[in-house]
Amino acid sequence: VQENDLTGVLRELGIDFYLIQDEAMASCPSHSPDRKQRTISWSVNIRTGVHYCFSCGFRGNLASLAQRVLKISYPQAVIWVNERAGWARSHKWREDFGNNNYAPPELKISEADLALFTDPPQSALESRRINPEYALKFGVRWREEERSWIFPVRDPYTSVLWGWQEKSDVTRIFRNYPAGVRRSKTLFGAGVAAYGSTAILVESPVDAVRASLTGLGSGLASFGAAVSDTQLSLIRELCGRVIVALDNDPAGIRGTAAIAGRNLGIPVRVFNYGTSGAKDIGDLGDDEIKQGIDNSISAIYYR
Ligand SMILES: [Zn+2]
Repeated sequence: VQENDLTGVLRELGIDFYLIQDEAMASCPSHSPDRKQRTISWSVNIRTGVHYCFSCGFRGNLASLAQRVLKISYPQAVIWVNERAGWARSHKWREDFGNNNYAPPELKISEADLALFTDPPQSALESRRINPEYALKFGVRWREEERSWIFPVRDPYTSVLWGWQEKSDVTRIFRNYPAGVRRSKTLFGAGVAAYGSTAILVESPVDAVRASLTGLGSGLASFGAAVSDTQLSLIRELCGRVIVALDNDPAGIRGTAAIAGRNLGIPVRVFNYGTSGAKDIGDLGDDEIKQGIDNSISAIYYR
């Protein structure tokens, strides 16, 4: 038998299989979980983790398999699989089924999924110069295993949880749960922004917390340099004016120019990094952030 980490995962899940090249063949863990049915109708690819039952249609990635067999939530299953077989394979379904508009029906997120996480530790908060009160206000969580920040992605109107963005303090890599969570349809911080206040628009959620801590406006994060039309509409609905404080790098500067060139219907100003050379506001001290806001430039002159 050709063993790899993924056949190890299958054994851990109690699946009795035989291999035909890269396909592990077994009775279906979904429609015959007690294995009373001996028919081999299901197979899983031991390189990708993509699986399919030609009898009942149960299919998906390795995480949807672990979810079904272990009776855990989808996000928990992603974490379980990620620890054993890697991130790419726990999300593999997107590449393989994306063209068929396939999405696992199991892909449901609930508030209970956030219970996996803890409050960020004091050391992590201090390293980003934010405080526990504001971390709580913005709903920021922490996953100790990978020392990563968890930023919930919520419906901007109802606060229903859609998923979250995770950023490891160790690898600096961003991940999204579920992989396709609609970040561009919301803004991080929308649920706590004061109506009619000045929006301080940043890319990364932790910078939104930081921006709010200045007391000069409501920090809102777009989750990236490409700010969507939906996000710009949300800012206009929520806030009386906006200071664009995207990252001070080529992508952020392009994103800023795109916003400055638009008529949003509210005053738009651009954060002034001056000669600081900072990559984003997270690199600046509190006074420097305040200065950048005070010295912000009207979008009319930025175009
Ligand atoms: Zn089946």
